[in-house]
Amino acid sequence: MNFHIPTAMLLTAITTLIMGLSLAFTVTDYPRALQVPIRQWVRSLLVSPFAFLLFALRERIPDWASIVLANVLLIVSTTLLVQALRSYNRLGSLRAWSVANIVITLAAVSVMTYVWPSIAGRTLLVAGQLAVLFVFGIAAIYRPADQVTNPERMVASFLVVGVLVMILRMTYASDPLMTTLLDSTPMQSIVFTYGALMPVIATSGFLLMCGQRLNKDLARLATLDPLTEVFNRRTMTDLANKAVAASKRHGRPLSLLILDIDHFKRINDEFGHEAGDLALCRFVELVREMLRSSDVVARIGGEEFVVLLPDTDQASAAVLAERIRQHLHATEFTVSGWPVPLRVSIGVGSIGPEVSNLESLLREADHAMYEAKRTGRDRVVLAADLRAASKSES
Ligand code: GH3
Ligand code: MG
Ligand code: MG
Repeated sequence: MNFHIPTAMLLTAITTLIMGLSLAFTVTDYPRALQVPIRQWVRSLLVSPFAFLLFALRERIPDWASIVLANVLLIVSTTLLVQALRSYNRLGSLRAWSVANIVITLAAVSVMTYVWPSIAGRTLLVAGQLAVLFVFGIAAIYRPADQVTNPERMVASFLVVGVLVMILRMTYASDPLMTTLLDSTPMQSIVFTYGALMPVIATSGFLLMCGQRLNKDLARLATLDPLTEVFNRRTMTDLANKAVAASKRHGRPLSLLILDIDHFKRINDEFGHEAGDLALCRFVELVREMLRSSDVVARIGGEEFVVLLPDTDQASAAVLAERIRQHLHATEFTVSGWPVPLRVSIGVGSIGPEVSNLESLLREADHAMYEAKRTGRDRVVLAADLRAASKSES
């Protein structure tokens, strides 16, 4: 097969340019957090066609354009690609390092073109630079503690192949068959096939990465309360139904607290809505400090929360509720230097012979919470105590 490298490069240049332009027109459709990496990717896609075009015109244009500028643009475009992967994973930019690297490429390629002309030297340098940049790209994908998704793995694998191709190219840098860059040797065919596929495969992978990130963010938004980042009412209902079923199946205790902040309206009225929002976040933080990792917190109303306590009987739940109440007393919450008391009324309910489903569990805990309000607020009331009291009355 005769692999005509200049034709392949021209096609790659056109494909890459079209992909870059299409992506540039759709970037604003993505959420803000993804726009930064996508813009960097677009810049990379819009720079590389010029590099490919200059390489393809090797025999028709001067060396400064087809060798020096083309190689520099290739490094610039790959650097932007790495940068896009870094900002996708919220890693800082390597601006100083990148600029230095590009300047070094410019100087070294110029020297190896005009002072000591050497194809092998230039090949070693540029292939080495690309291999290092690909390694940076792989590291950017694997850096965060989050689980790596399949599209991320796909892009990383493609970059690994890139590193191997570049190492192969460096190994054969002084191949006497390779008299000019555009000769169709097996080595050059491998390198340029990779180069031609790179923008298409990597861009598809990158867009799949962005799609999955989008889905993950939407799923998060659908399950969490946006202000306090605890579960919302719907997720709480799902989790609590499962917990009730598991508790009945295994005969294990399950308790639930309903917490309603006392006189919360006053915080809003006296210090403003923003202070109220801060108070809600602080409240959640303080409650969480008292919980185990298996306990579930959810916001079910404005200043009303549920804590689901698996494997916890009523007595232990009551002790925990009292500890939460006291923790709020012991911790000072201030707004602009003014102390603002955060107090809470808590109703405690548990699964038992009289309470066998989520509906009645919530109803009983809610009654207990209202009883805490009615009898002076800033206290814990047990549903079982209410039940016992009403039985003894009747
Ligand atoms: P009580 O002790 O009886 O529970 O009194 P309260 O003031 O806490 O309860 P009430 O139901 O009278 O008022 C709740 C207030 O919570 C009213 C509402 O404006 C406020 N609120 C609800 N959601 C939010 C929110 O997301 N942010 C802020 N800042 N305020 C909220
Ligand atoms: Mg309240
Ligand atoms: Mg309320």
